[in-house]
Amino acid sequence: MLQGLAAGACAALGSPIVHAQAAPKVVVIGGGFAGASFARAVKREDPQVAVALVEPNAHYTACPLSNAVIAGLRDIKDQHFGYAGIEADGIVHVPQKAVRVEAEQRRVVLADETRLGYDRLVVAPGIDMRFDAISGYDAAAAELMPHAWKAGEQTLLLRRQLEAMDDGGLVVLSVPANPFRCPPGPYERASLMAHYLKAHKPRSKILILDAKDAFSKQRLFEAGWAALYPGMIEWVSLSSGGAVTEVDAGTRTLRTEFGEHRAAVANVIPPQRAGAIAAIAGVADRTGWCPIDPVTFESRLVPNVHVIGDAAIGGAMPKSAFTANAQAKACASAVIELLRGRAPGEPKLINTCYSLLAPDYGISITGVYSPKDGLLAEVEGAGGTSPLDAPTAVRTEEAAFGEAWFGTLTAEAFG
Ligand code: FAD
Repeated sequence: MLQGLAAGACAALGSPIVHAQAAPKVVVIGGGFAGASFARAVKREDPQVAVALVEPNAHYTACPLSNAVIAGLRDIKDQHFGYAGIEADGIVHVPQKAVRVEAEQRRVVLADETRLGYDRLVVAPGIDMRFDAISGYDAAAAELMPHAWKAGEQTLLLRRQLEAMDDGGLVVLSVPANPFRCPPGPYERASLMAHYLKAHKPRSKILILDAKDAFSKQRLFEAGWAALYPGMIEWVSLSSGGAVTEVDAGTRTLRTEFGEHRAAVANVIPPQRAGAIAAIAGVADRTGWCPIDPVTFESRLVPNVHVIGDAAIGGAMPKSAFTANAQAKACASAVIELLRGRAPGEPKLINTCYSLLAPDYGISITGVYSPKDGLLAEVEGAGGTSPLDAPTAVRTEEAAFGEAWFGTLTAEAFG
């Protein structure tokens, strides 16, 4: 631990990289699922590497299962994870925000202007909302029409709004086009909101305005809605006028090209981009996301900088915590090999996304991915979804698997 801190302090003075024999330095920006999993995986593979994890928050608030918080099924405290376990591994948690990257000098500049030198930098800042994408939807509007797409205060705000709503109210969700964080997440949210409303405000309705014509696990979700919440959830596709182009936060009105909807509760999930530091560091392209080499996760734009998790262009891999963890481990192996002057091997990555439609009703989708034509491509025939006609016992089992997965993942990243 002390050795690690010394390495961090030394780097903070801005000492340029490594003298020939010094321990290699790896700096990680972002202590979410991607960054925390990466830091631990590197340290586990080679304890000699000095690892600094730059993350301003004292604890992390996890998004998976946060839809259950909105539905009143879970406490937000169960989403909180600290960094003590990570520090006990000899990783230095630097409780600051990274504000710049001086790539030529291989230094990260922190909010207090100290500099951390690195041999390899990993950028894992997650997402930011695109507050320029929907007319009228900015940070102030999000206080009235929460996105709740970063867990924490926004999650609780949406929960409170749902609780305060009268029976018979209309809840409207606005869902963006791909790519965005957690493709099945909005539909899980609609399901769990319906679970709450069915018990407490049964005359209420949920309208999903979607900027897409199809969505993840669609047939499974629609079959579940018909069985659990008949007539309660309506999905409007892009072709039927689902894309929200403008909002009026004051009156909770959402406008599409086909008309307008006035909501009692409006959950606007706007289009997204990589967390702001990615663009500042020069690793994001014009899409707002970060192109990477699919073997090493090294940025295609800035050498010696790797990008993992939601911020990266993951090809066919969805932006999920499972993906972030899988990419982190593959990237850690690649970084170790590169530090040793060896060529990394090609990774195979797995993602599984569990979704809850009710506390005892779970469904899942799994995919396997490997590098192909410069991107992460899905391995044909290797994945799949829960069966459409599964008996109730299977849905109950999958709900339990989802919860167990969350326990395993958070223990691996933060425990
Ligand atoms: P994050 O988890 O967002 O972590 C990024 C970290 O970087 C943050 O801690 C942030 O503070 C830090 N950071 C940002 N900028 C800086 C900076 N300049 N300096 C220092 N630190 C910085 N995924 C699943 O696999 N399964 C699920 O069931 C699931 N459910 C979800 C439900 C909802 C409602 C939502 C919104 C998401 C869900 N996800 C799920 C997706 C999952 O939460 C994300 O894909 C995952 O968090 C991505 O991890 P990340 O590390 O890339 O980003």
